[in-house]
Amino acid sequence: GVLRSFARSEDNHLYKLQVPVGNETRWFHLHKSEVEAPHTQSTLASGLGGSVILIEDLTELHVLEREVAHSDRLVSIGRLAAGVAHEIGNPLTCIDTLAQNLRYDNAPEDVEAAVDQVLEQTRRISNIVQSLVTFSHAGSSREEDHVTVDLAACVDEAMHLVQLSRQGRAVSCINEIGPDPRVTGDARRLIQLFVNLLSNAIDASRPGGHVRVRAETLGESVRIEVEDEGSGIDHHLRDRIFDPFYTTKPAGKGTGLGLSVAYSIIQDHGGSIFVETPDTGGARFVIRLPAAEQRQPV
Ligand code: ADP
Repeated sequence: GVLRSFARSEDNHLYKLQVPVGNETRWFHLHKSEVEAPHTQSTLASGLGGSVILIEDLTELHVLEREVAHSDRLVSIGRLAAGVAHEIGNPLTCIDTLAQNLRYDNAPEDVEAAVDQVLEQTRRISNIVQSLVTFSHAGSSREEDHVTVDLAACVDEAMHLVQLSRQGRAVSCINEIGPDPRVTGDARRLIQLFVNLLSNAIDASRPGGHVRVRAETLGESVRIEVEDEGSGIDHHLRDRIFDPFYTTKPAGKGTGLGLSVAYSIIQDHGGSIFVETPDTGGARFVIRLPAAEQRQPV
């Protein structure tokens, strides 16, 4: 039935077609090409016209892909659990010691200092937990929630949020994205993506530095660049920076989750990210996201 309707259809390709065969489901790619009958009166030759249909059975490939994705996720959950235990362990030990000492501290200024430190350490734990919540959500977005997102507005919002948390840093963020680039995605999580990239860019920048975000639509995808003039990223660290809990920032400042969250958000959108060094130094993150369909001209 599928073959018959495909033979009649206008489409020349059907990708990843799911077909129940007996008790199992198999996956197929179908390709079709029309064959014209030669211009001759011979009845034999006129019977040669029609369609050639190529059927590729992709079931094994599909099952393998699913297994790899699953074990990848298990590995990252394992790494995450080990990292969380380590990251939250330190501030917890610190709070524990402070609380024990408080029993014997009577001087009001000592008590005051201990309370400040307890608050500081709980803030550190809550930052880690907050990032983890985002991280776990980042892995479970549904494609049905994806809509057309105005990229310039999204980056504006992210810049606004970052400036709230990075006040007093003399770094200018410049949004150079025009009104055109639109992507298909989840706006809330794309804002999170840019908040993470911009925060890193500002942290790496020197006072007076600039952070620029540009974008252009190239066919079916949008290429976005987030570029800073900061300390840059060593060649050999380029793969590690996307690992959960990898950070070069002092304890309490970095959680090492920013880029791994960014990575999962991009993966969920079917995009890609890599980092390169601009001629002028600093770091440039290059992202590809699927472009939204063009609006019909009025
Ligand atoms: P965090 O910001 O908490 O350290 P991230 O996963 O966001 O965690 O970043 C990991 C590391 O990658 C940072 O600690 C930093 O060393 C490096 N990094 C990320 N972005 C930049 C950048 N724009 N310039 C220089 N180094 C960067």
